[in-house]
Amino acid sequence: MNFPHPRPADPSETLEVKSIRARSIVLQACRDYLPALTQERGQDAESKAILAALQYGSRPPRHSSDPNPDLLGKLKAALIRQLKHIIELAELDEASLRFYRGLRREVEGAQMADPIGDLLQRICRKAEPLYGKDWLDPDVRLGWAGLHPRNASTDDDPYTATARTQKPEDSASLVRLSVFEKYFGVEAYCSLPLVLTHELVCHVPAVPRKSHPPGVFNEGFMDWAALIYFRQWCSELSPGLGSLTRYHGEKFHDRQRNTAKLRWPRGSAHTLANGVVDWWSEVMGFRYTQEDIQRRLASLAVRVNVVDVDMSVKDALVLALTPHGSQTMAAALDAFLRDPTTSIDPLLDAAGSLSLDDVGDHLLDAAASLALDGVGLPVVDSTANVGADDVLEAKELS
Ligand SMILES: [Zn+2]
Repeated sequence: MNFPHPRPADPSETLEVKSIRARSIVLQACRDYLPALTQERGQDAESKAILAALQYGSRPPRHSSDPNPDLLGKLKAALIRQLKHIIELAELDEASLRFYRGLRREVEGAQMADPIGDLLQRICRKAEPLYGKDWLDPDVRLGWAGLHPRNASTDDDPYTATARTQKPEDSASLVRLSVFEKYFGVEAYCSLPLVLTHELVCHVPAVPRKSHPPGVFNEGFMDWAALIYFRQWCSELSPGLGSLTRYHGEKFHDRQRNTAKLRWPRGSAHTLANGVVDWWSEVMGFRYTQEDIQRRLASLAVRVNVVDVDMSVKDALVLALTPHGSQTMAAALDAFLRDPTTSIDPLLDAAGSLSLDDVGDHLLDAAASLALDGVGLPVVDSTANVGADDVLEAKELS
């Protein structure tokens, strides 16, 4: 990992990255207050003023020659001043006064730390046992972008963080986390556990070690598995922020899933995987919960992720992943779900023995159910040969 713990200020980081870090430190310090600030209190004027101060207060000074300004100190000062105005001028009731005074204490106490590095460590320690000897901690670099990842307005889509994984031949994977510097608020901060779980479960240990265009395996079935693990882990990934992390992780996932590049691979693979879970729930639901069955199927994705075969073989497996296609596949799926430590060869064989016509039928079945969901058919995407999460030209200058 690149991050010692806690991470000292790195003078070589750009001011934009320092500004993102300052906001992450304050957000983590104020974690107990974020649910009320963003949800229960709704969008009252006081909450809005504080959330706005989080953005303007950490803005790098435009006309200063100081190469290393104290952006955390500047942000804390802006928030404390804003809170002072609210406490003195807003004519609050007792409960609200207690709330804003408590929030001010947390802001005052915030000190240099590395919540994003902490989060990475937590996800690494969760992902490592899934992969065992195939796991190697990645390096991680925080960068910034001058554009929203989906070119959206931050009012409509406040999820401004994105990540992609690079896989050098001769060293550990490098996860590049990139944030739209102009807006990094509660929603984007709380989406980081999902963003990073996806990279660490899907891409960091994946074999063969090279980039692949988004397909039904690497961005579909693996993403489905990562989402299952995220739901299982999320209360432990961001201490004190479990429910917000789950809420914003799922919302971000919906936003990203509906982009042109990911709609087909994610939509079709999620539909097929959920179909397998539903089928086996009917067979074995008396013995296993839905979550047990999801985890059993997710472990298949993890196993296949580190098998050194061509990506087309893995894609073919996903497209054949239905108990309604062939008896052989249904039997292989049933055997695997009963004992997920068993060999995965029968599943790969069953997928490989399908004719192109069979695969075409599965595709049509998946397309039909996706059309019902309003997802539509595959989209021809001229950018499909770049990194799957490379949805923007990130200016990673850190
Ligand atoms: Zn991905």
